[in-house]
Amino acid sequence: MSSADEVVVHEALPSRVLVGPGASDLVADEVARIGAGRVLLVAAPSAAGPADRIAGALGARLAARFDRPAPHTPVAVTARALEAAAGADCVVAVGGGSAIGLAKAVSARTGMPQVAVPTTYAGSEMTPVLGETEDGVKTTRRAPGLAPGTVVYDPRLTLGMPSGLTRTSAMNALAHAVEALWAPDATTVTDALATEAAAGILAALPEVLDDPTGLEGRARLQSAAWPAGICLAQTRMGLHHQLAHVLGGAFGLPHAELHTMLLAHVMAFNLPSAPAASARLTRVAGPDPVAVVAALARAHRGPTRLSALGVPRERLREMAERVAADPYPNPRRPDADAVAELLDAMW
Ligand code: NAD
Repeated sequence: MSSADEVVVHEALPSRVLVGPGASDLVADEVARIGAGRVLLVAAPSAAGPADRIAGALGARLAARFDRPAPHTPVAVTARALEAAAGADCVVAVGGGSAIGLAKAVSARTGMPQVAVPTTYAGSEMTPVLGETEDGVKTTRRAPGLAPGTVVYDPRLTLGMPSGLTRTSAMNALAHAVEALWAPDATTVTDALATEAAAGILAALPEVLDDPTGLEGRARLQSAAWPAGICLAQTRMGLHHQLAHVLGGAFGLPHAELHTMLLAHVMAFNLPSAPAASARLTRVAGPDPVAVVAALARAHRGPTRLSALGVPRERLREMAERVAADPYPNPRRPDADAVAELLDAMW
């Protein structure tokens, strides 16, 4: 939370957001509203069904379709999508963060307006950030124009999400809200968004895991992940995201599963040094927020430890030293010994 003697800048991004069951039926209308006539449709293979429907509604305005987005936006994949994009004046992305990242990369190179139709809770559609990889090196850029101008949240598109992805992707969103609460540039606006997001995710996720095809629960979970995405865009992320970036980059780990593994550990590490965040989380999660989040993570039927992801234990110290050498803003100083201990517990 910002202190009383500091100036913090809150910059809301202009985005038009459609929310609700059936919203994705309006994508063609949104494209017309932008004034675009030739669409590049980028869709994850998992989103082939909704992409077919959107393609049908676009009719002759569909210029090309690209269905091979990849995690962390490799520039070689972007080059192939750009070849397909010749003649297009708008890009529509349907899928998770990988599809949305590819649309951002296309837009960054062509200036094309974007319509994002997310099918996970990762939140990229709310951010002006693009991470790209080339020869195994990830670079990140931030510019207001990278944020999709139109976002379409249709909970129907999340009904078929497997339980594992539902859990890990929702935990990814929860991590955005939690880190926003202890961010140095938090404001009353981000505090409100983060608290609402955390409360909504913690209430809706168990409900959705019990009844994965229940539209009301899915709608609530998606609507709670939305403000978590805004938190990711508007505050500086701390130790949790630094560990996700350092470990994810070094070992090529799955994004959402890594977030799921990390969150309770980082909360236990930070919350004693972040009383305001702790009070808000206690309000929405009960007296022991760490235990609530740890239980959600432990119940994952995929890897729940770094060892299960193939991370060698002898490299944990090096990771901790990298974090300590140039830490992201964090309520507790992440010295190498303490971070190494945290990583060892995760291992
Ligand atoms: P993803 O887009 O890679 O999707 C993971 C897998 O789930 C894919 O196989 C996808 O096809 C499948 N999938 C997606 N939606 C589905 C659904 N509804 N039903 C069934 N399967 C579905 O993963 P993600 O976690 O959404 O995004 C991760 C990527 O996004 C990473 O590259 C990350 O760096 C990036 N990201 C960027 C930002 C940003 O602000 N720039 C924010 C969050 C994530």
